[in-house]
Order: sequence, then C-alpha cells, then structure tokens
Amino acid sequence: MLPLKLVYHDRYDLNLGSHVFPSQKYRMIHDQLLADGIATADDFLVPEPAADADILRVHSQDYVYKLKHGSLTHEEILRMEVPYSRELITACWLAAGGSILAGRRALEDGCAANIGGGFHHAYPDHGEGFCVIHDVAVAIRHLQFHRAIENAMVVDTDVHQGNGTAAIFGGDGTVFTLSIHQEHNYPYPKPASTMDVNLPDGVGDDNYLAILEKHLHEAFREFSPQILFYVAGADPYREDQLGGLALTMEGLARRDALVFDYARRHNVPAVITLAGGYARRVADTVRIHINTILAGCAAARQRTTQS
Ligand SMILES: [Zn+2]
Repeated sequence: MLPLKLVYHDRYDLNLGSHVFPSQKYRMIHDQLLADGIATADDFLVPEPAADADILRVHSQDYVYKLKHGSLTHEEILRMEVPYSRELITACWLAAGGSILAGRRALEDGCAANIGGGFHHAYPDHGEGFCVIHDVAVAIRHLQFHRAIENAMVVDTDVHQGNGTAAIFGGDGTVFTLSIHQEHNYPYPKPASTMDVNLPDGVGDDNYLAILEKHLHEAFREFSPQILFYVAGADPYREDQLGGLALTMEGLARRDALVFDYARRHNVPAVITLAGGYARRVADTVRIHINTILAGCAAARQRTTQS
C-alpha cells in the first residue's frame, strides 16, 4: 500500500486525438503504476466531477455557461488550443473534482496525488494553453469555502509561467504563488505571481536546483501555508518539444524531492498535480510524472517515520 492516495478517473483523457498534448498520458501513468507493481487498485481513488458551485468560485458564470452548452466562439476555442468536445468538458470537471479530492486527502494523510490537473493557464473567464478549468484554484477555493484551510501555497515548476494562477490569486494575500519557468516562452504577457523566477534558456540541473532552493527558502520564510499545491510540469525536461530548459530526468526527480522536502520540513500537506509534458517520447513524460509520484511517496514515508 502506498503512503499516499492516487486520484484518477478513466475519463481524464481530454479526447484530443493526435495533438502535441498527449492526453493519453493519464491512462498510461495509471497503467504503468499498476504494471510496475508500484501501486495496486487499492491505492487509487475515483473522483466525482466538481460541482458547478465549486467551478463558479473561480470561473465566470458566462464562461461556465458557454463550456456547458458548447457555445464558445471560434476565437475562444482557438485560444484554448484544444478542440471542444463533451469529453473535454467531462475531463475538465473530473480533473477539478480530482484536485479537490486530492486536497482533502492531503489534509488527512499529509500528501496525495491527482494523476491529472495542474491546468494553470486557465483564467476565470477563458481557457488557453490547453487549459480550460483551473483545477488547482477550484480546489483551493473549495477548501477555503469549507474552512478546511485559510491559506495555501502553489509551487509551479512547469516550464511555462502559471499565468492563470497569477491572475486568479493576484492581490489575494491568502494564496502565495511561486512560478519558476523559462522567461522566453509562452505565456505573453506574464501577470505577476507572488514570486516569479524567470529563467534564461537552456538552464541545466545544478543551476536550476540552486535557484529553486533559494526561492523555496524565501517563499517559506515569507509565508506559512496550510497546504501546498505542487504543479509539477514535466516540460522543463531537455527533450521537451515546447520547453527550452535542459533538465535531465534525474534533475527533475531532484527538483521534486526538493519541493517535497520543503513541505515536509515545514509540516505542510502536499498535493501533486501533473501539468504539462511534451517530450518527443510520450514514455519519457510518463516516466517523469511517475518519478514525481515516487518522490511524493518517499517524502510521505519520511513524514511517517518522523511522527
Ligand atoms: Zn507547460
């Protein structure tokens, strides 16, 4: 039995067909965790779709109506960069429900993973960059509304800046947002996170890890979160088609361990969400995401030994 629950639904697949976003990765991660004997069926939890009331704590009524009724304009669909379908909407509501469930379990168990989510480019009134519903924001607002938490930290290591996260929580002192990303890459413009770390092109493992550690240190000095949502993009990988950083698979695993180590040492429950990953070989993206889950497990085991 794993020390953390894995939240997953067969319908997380965004139904994109042949697309640079490999939305079959969710199923591949699930299947490989089982095939490798890392997880058993008992380690998984199946989420409910988020309630519309939860979605509406983050997104505008007009946008949610258009998503549910298929009445987005052509321009709005182009901006999402994913084709509209009923399956897409089901998957987005499930991913948000998955992040809520993972958030609740993390508060109970110290750590939990959504094998999905991390849709950090979604704004209150529109989707963009393959992101339709901001599952992490929906989960944070849900937990705040139900008084399970007062505040939260989002640590976003996807190669692309977390513009939706920054826009949603800008000026909200209850949510600290840290985004470490490649500066010369989508999105443009980049609304201000609480802490933005703009990296030049081509940064490799050692520099990246030193810079991340310095900023995690500062973030935890400035803010004491009751929960940490980790947006663990696989796309800082050197073989990524949409990223221009140069991390190795080992460097990415050290990155994950560093984030979980900070959460553990500050006694903050951690929620994993996956976010982007566009490696030339989809199997590499799957491996990077699995390594994130394994790093979360290692940290969770350390927590248990300590308490
Ligand atoms: Zn990305």
